[in-house]
Amino acid sequence: MTDPQAWSFETRQIHAGTSPDPTTGARALPIYATTAYQFRDSQHAADLFALAEMGNIYTRIMNPTQDALEQRVASLEGGVAALAVSSGQSATTLAILNVAETGDHVVASASLYGGTYNLLHHSLPKLGITVSFVEDPDDPEAWQALVQDNTKAFFGETIGNPKGDILDIEAVAAVAHRNGVPLIVDNTIATPFLIRPFEFGADVVVHSATKYLGGHGTAIAGIIVDGGTFDWSSGRFPGFTTPDPTYHGVVYKDLGAPAYALKARVQLLRDLGPAISPFNAFLVVQGIETLSLRMERHVENALTVAQWLETHDEVDAVNYPGLPSSRWHAAQQKYAPKGGGAVLTFELHGGREAGQKFVEALELHSHVANIGDVRSLVIHPASTTHSQLTAEEQLTTGVTPGLVRLAVGLEGIEDILADLEAGFRAAKSA
Ligand SMILES: *Cc1c(COP(=O)(O)O)cnc(C)c1O
Repeated sequence: MTDPQAWSFETRQIHAGTSPDPTTGARALPIYATTAYQFRDSQHAADLFALAEMGNIYTRIMNPTQDALEQRVASLEGGVAALAVSSGQSATTLAILNVAETGDHVVASASLYGGTYNLLHHSLPKLGITVSFVEDPDDPEAWQALVQDNTKAFFGETIGNPKGDILDIEAVAAVAHRNGVPLIVDNTIATPFLIRPFEFGADVVVHSATKYLGGHGTAIAGIIVDGGTFDWSSGRFPGFTTPDPTYHGVVYKDLGAPAYALKARVQLLRDLGPAISPFNAFLVVQGIETLSLRMERHVENALTVAQWLETHDEVDAVNYPGLPSSRWHAAQQKYAPKGGGAVLTFELHGGREAGQKFVEALELHSHVANIGDVRSLVIHPASTTHSQLTAEEQLTTGVTPGLVRLAVGLEGIEDILADLEAGFRAAKSA
């Protein structure tokens, strides 16, 4: 048998983390719909609870279907371990709470998914964790300028949703490491097929697996991947270097490379409880098996749509990192040479009213809040995903009044363009 680590991405997306079920011979991944697992004897039970032996105890913290998903995404990202959770939001929440607590601080890019912005701007401060937002995340020194003694992490999106900016992972990771803190990145829009953040120095990757990993708009799920290279022993992270009384005094940094993922599982998933259902873990694994094929077509269709929009009279501006006109085109070619993802935005001539008319006139495109579906999706962010933000906050996250966001799907490109053309006719009459 060849070494699974040496397999290509396409092979690992199908085989990593799974093998035929030893009991039944089932070839596809079984959905282990069970809450608990029979212990062999009392010693086995005691060892599992003491973390002296790793194994299944209770589905809130681990499940074989979830484990297959974790191993597969860890392999695709090139990390040492992963933790699947109930949503992308819980992945981001746990990723930060694993390194920061009351009195601590995080530096984050201002170009963020609306839900992440709310988490960082409103909910984390209620827990005593403050966040400073980098207005110009392309400038590494702007990150440095916001670092405090109590800073515990840097956070950014590899491709910003919806702005389409590409994080300069290498430069930002270098500033994070100079200050002794990890860089946590949200790789949802890129997926590991387009960007592999660990290869550029990121330390932790989070995903909304709800989007391109699952790929079909059928399950809410999230995942945290541990790159396994960050040194937690500097003294800045007492949670890793002092004994955990809830596990007989285990010191997480002593657990080796997957210390971060293990700590998130046995402390945060155990105590806060955002467990993924085995069924949703199965749906995401099923999606991942065609990830490369879907992403290739997503990117091809998105680039065609972006180029077509750029020539359209009703369009004032198109934001897509795959276009040479994008400010982030050079960064896209460096970090995401296979393509800039399939989320793009454009500014309609005619502003907010034209934007809403446009969205309503589309028939093939679904008017929905998600991205990362086989179906083409459209939304007007200012009145929906980003409506809880103030007008000023909307602008910092890249949302202008006439902005329309597309998540270009896998339908025939001629049908996608014809539908958009119908939208432009309606917008023009606005
Ligand atoms: C959707 C999304 C999230 C949140 O994920 P959920 O699965 O909806 O909780 C986080 N980050 C990005 C970039 C997203 O697009």
